[in-house]
Amino acid sequence: MTAHAKPVDRRVLKLRDPSLLVDRAYVAGEWVGASVGRSFAVTDPFDGAVILELPDLDVEAARQAIDTAHAVQKEWAKRTAKERSAILRRWYDLIIANADDLALILTTEQGKPLAEAKGEVISNAAYIEWFAEEAKRIDGDIIPGASPSQRILVLKQPVGVCAAITPWNFPNGMITRKVGPALAAGCTMVLKPAAQTPLSALALAVLAERAGVPKGAFSVITTTEAKPIGEEFCHNPKVAKITFTGSTNVGRWLMKEAGDSIKRLSLELGGNAPFIVFDDADLDAAVEGALASKFRNAGQTCVCANRIYVQESVAQDFAARLAEKASGLKLGRGTEAGVAMGPLIDERAVAKMEEHVQDALEKGGQVLVGGKRSDLGSTFFEPTVMTGITQAMKVTREETFAPLAPIITFKDEAEVIGMANATEFGLASYFYARDMARVFRVAEALESGMVGVNTPALANEMAPFGGVKQSGLGREGSKYGIEGFLEIKYINLAGL
Ligand code: NAD
Repeated sequence: MTAHAKPVDRRVLKLRDPSLLVDRAYVAGEWVGASVGRSFAVTDPFDGAVILELPDLDVEAARQAIDTAHAVQKEWAKRTAKERSAILRRWYDLIIANADDLALILTTEQGKPLAEAKGEVISNAAYIEWFAEEAKRIDGDIIPGASPSQRILVLKQPVGVCAAITPWNFPNGMITRKVGPALAAGCTMVLKPAAQTPLSALALAVLAERAGVPKGAFSVITTTEAKPIGEEFCHNPKVAKITFTGSTNVGRWLMKEAGDSIKRLSLELGGNAPFIVFDDADLDAAVEGALASKFRNAGQTCVCANRIYVQESVAQDFAARLAEKASGLKLGRGTEAGVAMGPLIDERAVAKMEEHVQDALEKGGQVLVGGKRSDLGSTFFEPTVMTGITQAMKVTREETFAPLAPIITFKDEAEVIGMANATEFGLASYFYARDMARVFRVAEALESGMVGVNTPALANEMAPFGGVKQSGLGREGSKYGIEGFLEIKYINLAGL
């Protein structure tokens, strides 16, 4: 909580259902208040105003949640797939019915424009709807045996208790895409959301409880003590799997810690997405795509364009058009009408953007538009477009995670593929081109888990979302998304 933080009047949230704004954690089926022990403030990144205080839980609470999740998991897995599916479907319906309230809670704790928040809520609820259906399609195999009297039976069973850790940039969506498949598979889940944005997680838990998710099958641990809770998740023998979305550094640490007990692990980590515009591209579409990819969520998106490569002959035109569009984006409080970009999550994020702009300027880059903090407040930076960018600058080597669009020019396909792949990350990449042979060549050559061709949109419940290289392990969404929550067992049937 910053020194100037003052409490926000909770009524300004004007929720249709005020019971969705919760000041308690959800541990082992009980709503736990902050009356005993420590608490922490959840603030509005627009001005630092306190929304409310939540219990700052310790390892003991996580352990309790894990014990209960372990105790109820077997019962949950014994329910028929159709029963689990019906509960998930009810949860989905409740999220959709309450989407306006969930969006308002999300915007207030995270800052993104209300329309984007509602888009996040609705498009990610679809993962629950999808996995409600997939629950009924968890099937197996019968394989011929080693002798005529044998058959090999292949079953899929839930891994057991799962622990999830989620980031602040998509406080709602990063949860539904993990909890949906886990519950569908017959697993239970203990979640630690980011301390900046726990209110969306708690609102989802209220609706999960209303939908009939059994007590203890889904817990939400609110805490500022991420590391001890992470250690508990990694070392507690009752936890079978950890699913994490966040930075590559923390993912790397979790992988090492969880190695001791060989836990299953899914990791959705950082990105450094190249966005390539070839000279045969539809330039209008490419400009619109870059604008959406770069400035959505104020550039705080793991799949957002981090490096924009434009072929020499169209580079000047593209840069001028992108700069004009970027300068027209309205900044402000996410709940205000017409606002296209809210604040960054905190002052550290602004400082990182400033450092990247400064580094680029010192190495010969030029600012076309923006390039400085906004006078709206300490968490705002103007949407920025820069040219004259090279591979040696911080902005091309690191994930900026802010509204900075750096433009790098290239001569030909071979050169740009080399530059695009020169990173340890491999989450998303994008390119705009019309030549079909080029489309196939480039899509196959880019080293990333996902490639958007003539589109900035990648995430939906039907598609396998995830990265290669140091951007992660495993996939979320699609028919593949449930596999990480299932173990394969084989039964050798003899004497037939
Ligand atoms: P972060 O890694 O700092 O935090 C993510 C979560 O991990 C938070 O809940 C945090 O409290 C927790 N955490 C931090 N240290 C921990 C520890 N030692 N043990 C256990 N938990 C710990 O990341 P962030 O800054 O909140 O989020 C931004 C990052 O997330 C970016 O790198 C972004 O690319 C990445 N991200 C990736 C995806 C994806 O799907 N690949 C999606 C969204 C965000």
